Amino acid sequence: MSKRTENEKRIRLLLVEDEESFVDALTIGLNREGFDVDIARDGQEAINRFTSASYDLVLLDLMLPKVSGLDVCRTIRLSSDVPIIIVSAKGEEVDMVLMLEIGADDYVTKPYRLRELVARIRAVLRRRENHEVLDASDELLEVGPIRMDVDARRCFVSGEEVKLRKKEFALLRLLLENPGRVLTREVLIDRVWGNDYVGDTKTLDVHIKRLRSLIEHDPKAPEHISTVRGVGYRFELTKS
Ligand code: CA
Repeated sequence: MSKRTENEKRIRLLLVEDEESFVDALTIGLNREGFDVDIARDGQEAINRFTSASYDLVLLDLMLPKVSGLDVCRTIRLSSDVPIIIVSAKGEEVDMVLMLEIGADDYVTKPYRLRELVARIRAVLRRRENHEVLDASDELLEVGPIRMDVDARRCFVSGEEVKLRKKEFALLRLLLENPGRVLTREVLIDRVWGNDYVGDTKTLDVHIKRLRSLIEHDPKAPEHISTVRGVGYRFELTKS
């Protein structure tokens, strides 16, 4: 056991992986990078471990004995929003939309370099930290020049108030709550409209267009609300 102080808290990962050769190399590499690693060798063990301990992130292989990676992800999401990175093998059909829908934060394809994996892990954790800061400030959301006071139902762009309709407000709120993360069309429609969604799928795009006209400097070249072609939209984390 190495000596460590309170503020040198190590990140605790749950590594769900059934390939033994992979597990060893990865565990050594991740330990060296400052992560504590627990291992689950099948989907059922992953669920059991997850319910009995707390983790900062789950690295989840897709093809697993007993319970598939997708079902493990779905199960974890019933009770937790722990960051999850899905790992798939080369050649496996990966449906990115489905993975985002069931709540994965990111995914990597084997074989990958340890350095790449660590960069992804740190990016997901950083994103989550920002998200938690937003959550902590409760009903005040602030990303870049956009500030939203949820309780008062008011929104400001660089200090200037913009008037949003009900659905526009809900849509922007959802995007601001998930900065840097792709939200699929299905998720946006479901969370903002639910069963109220009528008409064709253009309704969402019309609302995005109107939001852009209100918050973007140049709505034709949006800096805040990006389109992720074929998937959905993402609110960009601004550098400043
Ligand atoms: Ca596997």
